[in-house]
Amino acid sequence: MILIVDDNQNNIYSLKRLLESRDFQVDTANSGEEALGKALKNNYALIILDVQMPDMDGFEVAETFAGYSKTKEIPIIFLSAVNTEKRFITRGYASGGIDYVTKPIDPEILLLKVKTYYNLQEQNLAMKKTQQSLELEVKGRRESQVSMKSRIDYFHLMLEALPQIAFTLNEEGKVDFVNARWYEYSASDKEFPETHPDDPNIQEEFELCRKMGKALDLEVRIRNRGSGDYRYHLLRMSPVHEGNTLKNWVGTFTDIEDQKKVEKEKDEFLSIASHELKTPLTSIKAYIQLLERKLKLDDSCSEAGFVTKALTQIEKLNTLINDLLDVSKIENGKLKINKKPANLETVIHNSIETILQTHEENNIRIERHGTKPDMIMPFDEIRIEQVLINFLSNAIKYSPKKQHIIVTTFVDDDEVKVSVTDFGIGIPDFKQEAVFSKFYRVEESSLQFQGMGIGLYICSEIIKQHHGTIGLSSKINEGSTFYFTLPLH
Ligand code: ADP
Repeated sequence: MILIVDDNQNNIYSLKRLLESRDFQVDTANSGEEALGKALKNNYALIILDVQMPDMDGFEVAETFAGYSKTKEIPIIFLSAVNTEKRFITRGYASGGIDYVTKPIDPEILLLKVKTYYNLQEQNLAMKKTQQSLELEVKGRRESQVSMKSRIDYFHLMLEALPQIAFTLNEEGKVDFVNARWYEYSASDKEFPETHPDDPNIQEEFELCRKMGKALDLEVRIRNRGSGDYRYHLLRMSPVHEGNTLKNWVGTFTDIEDQKKVEKEKDEFLSIASHELKTPLTSIKAYIQLLERKLKLDDSCSEAGFVTKALTQIEKLNTLINDLLDVSKIENGKLKINKKPANLETVIHNSIETILQTHEENNIRIERHGTKPDMIMPFDEIRIEQVLINFLSNAIKYSPKKQHIIVTTFVDDDEVKVSVTDFGIGIPDFKQEAVFSKFYRVEESSLQFQGMGIGLYICSEIIKQHHGTIGLSSKINEGSTFYFTLPLH
């Protein structure tokens, strides 16, 4: 909008019409005071100011405008009929005008000037606005940088307080922060601690996980710089995401040396105890069998029943001890697989027969589905039978109401898949992966059903050694399907 300031109404009227004919918005004031009041309230792009006015002349008005921050930037064109001499024109410029037009006015020239100054002022204002918003943005960024820095400092402070070795890595996988404990195991804040020659290389393991954007979980022995000893640590490195982008990594080394020692002692005890139990049990079994033969018992007499029951219990104890021995063999890397060409279908058939015979009283129905793997392939017959019997006995044990089992096989060019389905109590989703861990039992079923939680652990080790896969799908109260695959070649 343009403000015309003149004490003469005729002048205002004709100038207003001229400007409005070119679509300019116009406001008017009859005196310097009125002009100042309006200019402080409204936003004007240009002021056309008459020089000769009573009370305050145009120069005084312009000088007053220059004293207010809101008005000092508004361009002023002076109009004068009387003061056309050079000194007045000079005063006009000195008091803040950008042009001095003398009367009589050439309307075309005045309009051109008004248009030019008007546009210039518009551009000026637009530039100012951009500058202001840029300044705001810079300020905002600076503030968020400061708050980010204080957040990072706080985070580092927390990492320092941890009892573990803690560190962070940038998105390229370079270590960029380590807490004080790090230096107990590494001399440089750029290099991981030295690992035991028999343990995996941390940098290589991390690179593998980094490529897949996955967390790393690793048990490694690292060398303490003070004592020179290697101590077991659990290394965990997790990616930190912001939205979908990987920002950096955070890692910890937790000292698990003491736990490892206890675990080792426990494994040693297990191994010794199961070995020691095995010998007397074998003798007990032999003596009872001898007794059975010597007494030549009639099947219908109660003594014969006692002897059979004693032998069944001895067999159960024998299986338990064998399982414990297997666990200690796995721990010591001594569970050996003896692969020989054999027929898998025969092994499946034998396992089903064994289960039916040993669970005669349960009235079990086992259905056989799928393509039969009636072919010769390399695997350890005894160990695979052990896996199948374990799957089948679990299927019976954990299905107290419905003794219906389905054994399904699937053969393709590369592998054979064998699965055992039951309609029992099922396993909650979040506990399914854990059932293959050593001594793990699902809480909900551990009180109702007997067991040690090692059967599936041994199965998974046997299948791993065959380079196959093992897994399950299960729904609570509907049943479970446990499967394993064996490669054909
Ligand atoms: P155990 O049966 O001696 O406890 P396993 O290693 O064979 O040990 O099984 C581990 C756990 O997995 C069991 O304690 C049980 O909670 C669960 N589980 C195994 N098989 C089944 C099944 N077919 N249905 C439901 N739960 C099962």
